[in-house]
Amino acid sequence: MHFETFAIRHQIDQTQEQEHSTPLFLTSSFTYSSAEEAARRFKGEEKGNIYSRFSNPNTNELGQKLAKLEEAEAGITTASGMAALNICFQSLLKTGDHVLASNKIFSNTKYIFNNLLSERGIAVTYVDSTDINVWEAAVKPNTAMVYIETPANPTLDIFDLSGMGALCKSEQLCFVVDNCFATPYLQKPLTHGADVVIHSATKFIDGQGRVLGGAIVGASKYIELCADHLRRTGACLSPFNAWVLSKSLETLAVRMDRHCSNALAVAQYLQQHPEIETVLYPHLDNYANYSIAKAQMTQGGGLVGCTIQGGKSRGIRFLNALKLHTLTANLGDTRSIATHPASTTHCKLTQAEQLSIGITPGYLRFSVGLEHIEDILEDIDQAIQASL
Ligand SMILES: *Cc1c(COP(=O)(O)O)cnc(C)c1O
Repeated sequence: MHFETFAIRHQIDQTQEQEHSTPLFLTSSFTYSSAEEAARRFKGEEKGNIYSRFSNPNTNELGQKLAKLEEAEAGITTASGMAALNICFQSLLKTGDHVLASNKIFSNTKYIFNNLLSERGIAVTYVDSTDINVWEAAVKPNTAMVYIETPANPTLDIFDLSGMGALCKSEQLCFVVDNCFATPYLQKPLTHGADVVIHSATKFIDGQGRVLGGAIVGASKYIELCADHLRRTGACLSPFNAWVLSKSLETLAVRMDRHCSNALAVAQYLQQHPEIETVLYPHLDNYANYSIAKAQMTQGGGLVGCTIQGGKSRGIRFLNALKLHTLTANLGDTRSIATHPASTTHCKLTQAEQLSIGITPGYLRFSVGLEHIEDILEDIDQAIQASL
C-alpha cells in the first residue's frame, strides 16, 4: 500500500458494532475471560491489552501506523515529544556512555543531556558542524549514540542522513534522529541508516494545534527497551490524544503538500525582498546543503527562516505588525505562525550563545500554514513595510 492509503486505511480490528471510524477506548484496564487467560497475558504468551499504561487500542493503532510510515520494525507512543526523547535516551544509554549530539537541537533536549543524563554519568559532546569528518573525529571509545535533528530547530540545518548512517554503522553507534520537522511523508531517516526516529507528534502530525504527543520508532531491539521503560515509568500517551493523532495521520500527506508549496512560495517571496538579508529554506537552490536536502527530503518542509534588516528591535516590530500570523510557541499548525527566537524561545541565551547556534538578532522563523498563499504573503508584506 502507498503511504496515503496506509495512513488512512490501517485500523485496529473493528468491535462488534462494525464501526467505520476507530472508536475511542477510554478505559484504564482490560478484562480477562478467565484466570488462565490473565496468566497467559501477563506472561506474554498471549497478545492482548492489560492496562492502558502498557497498551491501549488507540495508542497501539497510532504506534503501528507511525512505525509502518517510517518503515520501522516497531513503534511506541508517548505523552509528548520530550517524553519520547527522555525515554529513548534513558533506556538506550548506560552509565559511562558518551553521546555525540548536534549543537543545533531543541533546547529542552539539551536540558536532558546536561542535567538528567550527566547525573547518571553519561557524557555528551556537542558537534557544531554538518561535516561528517568533524563527527568522525569526535567519536570516543565509549561513544554509544549519535543524535541529530534534520531539519534542525530553529535554523533548519540539514545533515546528510546516509553519510551519518554509514559512520554510525562502521563505528557501531546507535543513530537517533528527531524527524519532527520533516515527518515520514517527506523523509524517512531509517531508510538512510538511522536506528531510531523520534517524533513530537504535537507538531505536523497533529497539524491542528490541539494535542501533545510523541513517538519512538525503529528497530525492535531498541523499541522493546523503550517500551519496557515507558510502561514502568508512565509517560504514556492518553488514548484520546492517540485517537486524535491517528485521525490526523489520515490527512498528513495532503496537509504536508500544501505546507510545503506555501512555504516554498514564502521563501521565494522573502528571497527577492530588499529588507530581508538571508533566507533559509532547504529546497531553495542557494541553500547550504541544498543537494543533500533534495536527495533526502521529497519537499522542503513547512518552516522558513529569514533575517530581517534592523536587528532585534525590527524583529519585534515586525511580529507586532502581523495581522494574520499568530504569535505562539507551536509549529506545524494549519495556522501560519511567526516567532522571533532571540526574544522568545532562545531569550535565556547570551547574544554570543545565540549567534553560535545561528540565531541572529533579526532572525525570524515562520511555520507556514494552510491559509491561502496570497493572504499569507500579503500579511508578511504589510508587516515588513509597517516595521520599517
Ligand atoms: C517541539 C519539539 C520537541 C518537543 O515536543 P513536545 O511534543 O512539545 O514535547 C522536540 N523536538 C523538536 C524538534 C521539536 O520541535
